[in-house]
Amino acid sequence: MAVSPVVTHTAESVSRTVLSPLKNLASGPTSSNGTPRPAPPPTAQPCTVPATLDLAEQMNEEEKRKYVKGKKLGEGTYAIVFLGHLRAQPSTLVAIKKIKVQKEYTEGMAPDAVRELKHLQELQHPNIISLLSVFSSKDQNLNLVLEYLPHGDLEMLIRDTDNVRYGAADIKAWMGMLTRAIWFCHENFVLHRDIKPNNLLIAADGEVKLADFGLARGFADPHQIMTSNVITRWYRPPELLFGAKHYSGAVDVWSVGTVFAELVMRAPYLPGNTEIDQIRLICEAIGTPAEDNWPGVTTLPEYTVPAQVPVRGKDWYEMRFGTVGSHGVDLLMKTLTLNPRLRITARDMLRHPWWHADPKPTRNEDLPSKAGGEAKMGADLKRRPGMINDDRGSKVARKLDFGAR
Ligand code: AMP
Repeated sequence: MAVSPVVTHTAESVSRTVLSPLKNLASGPTSSNGTPRPAPPPTAQPCTVPATLDLAEQMNEEEKRKYVKGKKLGEGTYAIVFLGHLRAQPSTLVAIKKIKVQKEYTEGMAPDAVRELKHLQELQHPNIISLLSVFSSKDQNLNLVLEYLPHGDLEMLIRDTDNVRYGAADIKAWMGMLTRAIWFCHENFVLHRDIKPNNLLIAADGEVKLADFGLARGFADPHQIMTSNVITRWYRPPELLFGAKHYSGAVDVWSVGTVFAELVMRAPYLPGNTEIDQIRLICEAIGTPAEDNWPGVTTLPEYTVPAQVPVRGKDWYEMRFGTVGSHGVDLLMKTLTLNPRLRITARDMLRHPWWHADPKPTRNEDLPSKAGGEAKMGADLKRRPGMINDDRGSKVARKLDFGAR
């Protein structure tokens, strides 16, 4: 059985971690994933561990007993996520991601779990979900203890056009947080490879955090062959659809561009039904990848295009995305550049003039949210599109009504 590194914390450090995203995770020693003995009833306190367990098992037991698992929060392809709290401090909430046992991986951990664990341990940033601890439960099930993000995800906000109204300043704030997260991943040679609105979870303080690193991988070695079958189809860049085996951070930047377009349109920008349909949509919306705009593209293993559409110019984008201003449109176009070598990098995205142009990004506490923000959402709804809100002066974005699109 593979060993699982355990991140150790005191109750105090966990509570500090959960409250402040700017914390430092200290990696503790590794423990084997030996099958733990049956746990005592959940009320048992203080934490006592049977003396018959070996050291690694004892450490795992101690870690496991720090947490109490509660109701189910959600389910992904390879894990079920539960609400949990610290046994010693019940007001400190956490999310416990229990990796499902997969038949094919009886001899070790499922690769998604390994990726998530490895990369989350390495990446500590305010816009990346924090890994607080790891323990194995019965049947050698791996449990990742994550910071609890109670305000849903960006997809919920985008889709809830009846209740959530937002504008360019809010989009700029969310895009800033997403871009910083991706920049940080790429600076650390990690590709996320599944950026989409429902992997962007929202903390109680409005901070957006990139989650679900189950498809992430390192990309320090440019010669290594990588699978092209990654990234949810609607957010997948043309190089992967054409079967590229060598790629870079540009794949994530494309996904960031499609999320940007989706935030403005409040609907997925390129919602292909199949991979062929996805390529067709890209050709129609952005232009057909060809040798003149992307030298070498026709040699990619699965290159096939339905029609020759010239690459769309700025006017075309202005008509659809003009609400984010000329600089916003420029940034969007740079993220959705067909040729991955010419596509803007996450680092250059952060240097783009859009961030400094009006309107300024909304402060986290003023961002629309799913829960706890009802009063603010109600106020937003009362405000009619086109109305200027005196208190929020420069927040011009609030005048915009993207929901009506
Ligand atoms: P995942 O497997 O990471 O996609 O998680 C599945 C679902 O669980 C997500 O869509 C969320 O609804 C929920 N979830 C995951 N992580 C958290 C978290 N840290 N805090 C709150 N809910 C979460």
